[in-house]
Amino acid sequence: MSPGKFENGQLKISESYNSCMRAVVTGGAGFLGSHLTDRLLREGWKVVVIDNLVTGSTDNIAHHSGNEKLSFIKQDVTEYLFLEGPVDFVFHFASPASPIDFVRMPIPVLKVGALGTHKALGLAKAKNAKFMLASTSEVYGDPLVSPQPETYWGNVNPIGPRGVYDEAKRYAEAMTMAYHHFHGLDTRIVRFFNTYGPRMRLDDGRVVPNFLHQALTDAPLTVYGDGSQTRSFGYVEDIVEGVWRLANSGFNEPVNIGTQDEHTVLEFAKIVIDVTQSQSQIEYRPALPDDPKQRRPDLTRNQAVLNGWTPKVNLRDGLKRTADYFLTKIRSGV
Ligand code: UDP
Repeated sequence: MSPGKFENGQLKISESYNSCMRAVVTGGAGFLGSHLTDRLLREGWKVVVIDNLVTGSTDNIAHHSGNEKLSFIKQDVTEYLFLEGPVDFVFHFASPASPIDFVRMPIPVLKVGALGTHKALGLAKAKNAKFMLASTSEVYGDPLVSPQPETYWGNVNPIGPRGVYDEAKRYAEAMTMAYHHFHGLDTRIVRFFNTYGPRMRLDDGRVVPNFLHQALTDAPLTVYGDGSQTRSFGYVEDIVEGVWRLANSGFNEPVNIGTQDEHTVLEFAKIVIDVTQSQSQIEYRPALPDDPKQRRPDLTRNQAVLNGWTPKVNLRDGLKRTADYFLTKIRSGV
C-alpha cells in the first residue's frame, strides 16, 4: 500500500495509511519475529523492525521490499531506542534462542534479555504503547512437574550453560511485570515452547534444523544422551496465531504458547527420518549439561485467554514444509 499520493509536488499521506496501527518488532528479522512481522502486515499494520542481525537476516523480510508499511532499523536493542511518530505496540522478540548461542555469545544473550527489555519497555512507555515480551519455557528450567503450568516457578541452574538465557528471560519477565504494576503499562508475556518452521537457521544447532539438515544430506542424526528427553513441537504459523490472539487479549500474566505434541528426542529423530525418506542412521552423542528432561505446556490458561486457540498444522506436515525450505537453502549453498 502506498502511504499517499503526490499533489502539487508534495506527498499527501492518506488517512487510511495514517490511521493504521503501528508496531515495533525487535528481532523482526529473526525466525519468530519475521513471521510475526508477516502477520502484522497482513492485518494491515505498519511495522518497524529493529534488529542487529546477529542471528537474524534481512533475507527473512526481503519479500516485503517495496512495501512502505515496513521499515527496518539495524540497531542493537540494548542501545537507546529513538523512534519518531506514534507506536501502538512494541513486541520485544529480539534474542538469540539456541543453546549453542548461549555458549557462543553468553553476554549478548544476557544483555538483550536484561538491557534490551528495559529499552523496549522504555520505548513502549514513552509512546504509551502496549508491550509484549517473548519469553520462553526455559524459565521453567529442567522442570520437576509436567506439563508445566504458568504458576510453576521452575527449576533453573543460574550458573549453568543455559543460565544466561533462562535468567535473562526471568529477569525480563520481572521487569515487564514491574512496568505493568508500577507504570500501568498494558503488557503481555508469552512463554514459547519449541517452535519450528521455515527461516530457522540451518546451522543454529537446535534439534529441528540439525536433524532436518542431517536427514536431507543422509548424515547421521546426532541424538544427545539416550534421547529419552522430551520436547513438544509447534509450527510457527500456529504459534504466531496464538501471539496475535494474546496481543488482542487484555491479559497481563504469562501465557504458555505451544502444543501437546510431545515426543522423546529419539522418537522425533525417527519421525524426521521417515518424513524425509532419508537413509540416515542415528548416532548417540554425550548428553548436554542441564538439558531439560521433559517439556510440555499446560494449556489451561492458554485456552481460557486465547479463545480456543488450536494448532492446525500437524508435526509431519510442518516438518515437510520446513524440509522444503531447508532443501532450497542446501541446494543454493546458503
Ligand atoms: N538435540 C539432540 N541433537 C541435536 C540437537 C538437539 O539430541 O543435534 C536435543 C537436545 O539435547 C534437547 C532437544 O534436542 O534435548 C531440543 O534441543 P534444542 O537445541 O532444539 O532446544 P531446547 O529445547 O533444548 O532449548
